[in-house]
Amino acid sequence: MKKVVKFGGSSLASAEQFRKAGSIIRNDSARRYVVPSAPGKRNPDDIKVTDLLYQCYKQAILHDDSEHDFEELLEKIKERYQEIIDGLKLDLSLEGEFRTIRENFTKKAGRDYAASRGEYLNGIIMAAYLGYEFIDAAEVIRFGENKEFDAEKTNEILAERLKHTEKAVIPGFYGAAEGGKIVTFSRGGSDITGSLVARAVQADTYENWTDVSGFLIADPRIIPNARSIEVITYRELRELSYMGATVLHEDAIFPVKKAGIPINIRNTNQPEDKGTLIVEATCQKPRFIITGVTGKKDFASVTVEKAMMNSEVGFCKSVLEVFEKNNVSIEHMPSGIDTMTIIVHQDEFQEKEQKVLAGIHRAVEPDLLELESDIALIAVVGRGMKATRGTSGRIFSALSHANVNVKMIDQGSSELNIIIGVRNHDFEEAIKAIYDIFVTTQL
Ligand code: ASP
Repeated sequence: MKKVVKFGGSSLASAEQFRKAGSIIRNDSARRYVVPSAPGKRNPDDIKVTDLLYQCYKQAILHDDSEHDFEELLEKIKERYQEIIDGLKLDLSLEGEFRTIRENFTKKAGRDYAASRGEYLNGIIMAAYLGYEFIDAAEVIRFGENKEFDAEKTNEILAERLKHTEKAVIPGFYGAAEGGKIVTFSRGGSDITGSLVARAVQADTYENWTDVSGFLIADPRIIPNARSIEVITYRELRELSYMGATVLHEDAIFPVKKAGIPINIRNTNQPEDKGTLIVEATCQKPRFIITGVTGKKDFASVTVEKAMMNSEVGFCKSVLEVFEKNNVSIEHMPSGIDTMTIIVHQDEFQEKEQKVLAGIHRAVEPDLLELESDIALIAVVGRGMKATRGTSGRIFSALSHANVNVKMIDQGSSELNIIIGVRNHDFEEAIKAIYDIFVTTQL
């Protein structure tokens, strides 16, 4: 058995958290490859080391009068690591590393280099703590000249490097271009590194340890004590993440999906919880018909009405071109016989609305153009819906009982999700009603 374990920032924010991670790793000999994030927040008011590094680098590249702030911030970062080293009683000094970092900061080594040091140093500590080999991600995660990630090259190098390495720590979040210049992924990118390592070693599981016990069926700010999702498919996750569920970096899915490796989201603070298992496909019957319900507020809709529109060839295309020309992306497009509605992000649309309206008038001469704002979209997602009759019926009767008016309905033919548009102010009520009918009443 081979497992790749990635620990997020809050799981490695202090010596105490490191100890929890350490005992999780030692508990299972299959946990052979470890990908750490930089130390995160120890409490809600704390600052992540990655953010401190960005701030520190900003001061480093400014002139003279910022020198004081630069030194102060660097010292603060040093203290965070020293606290961990002392707490773990490690015989390890990062003095030399900090001298190099200081030098490179003053030489303006780049923002990515600066940010990457958070994971790099945490990796050194983790390797010393576990007695695992340390592999600098700059050696094994490859980017191209223009900072674009090179998936195949990385896989080649990583697989070769890890073939004969029994146990290793590989810091997350960064890699390097051919000449050695450090490049980072976008924020939260250690998730991606974990996924790449899992693919390279053909792991049995990619465990992603964080501070929640997996994905919840609904946002706990709306449904306190919402239950967690036991098993979710990649496709369901994609639908839910798109609408706002954020636990895992989106790009972390592709490498493991390609290799058929499941991801297990686990909670470092509650290791006995099973967390959420993310898989390609499963025969396991979901406990509830829906896997999750989520959504976002603040959409606007543009409804175009024209008699006989359905027989006018190229009508939709002409309307959509207006949005394209104005660089407005489209979220959904429910349509009727003589109407089509285009749903867009309100904030993105607002400044361009008059241009878009004029453009549509010119393009298709509609009978009526209508705008509506403050719309929320709710996605009800679940592989279980496909095999079950009456799901949409239950959703809409629950909403009607809750006095929520439905403004739009969109069901993909995959039957994996149903998208419902409601007024912004009905959003929370609608989520509650849907959660209750599919989850609370089924317990
Ligand atoms: N430390 C980086 C960040 O804060 C990357 C990560 O934690 O995944 O975004």
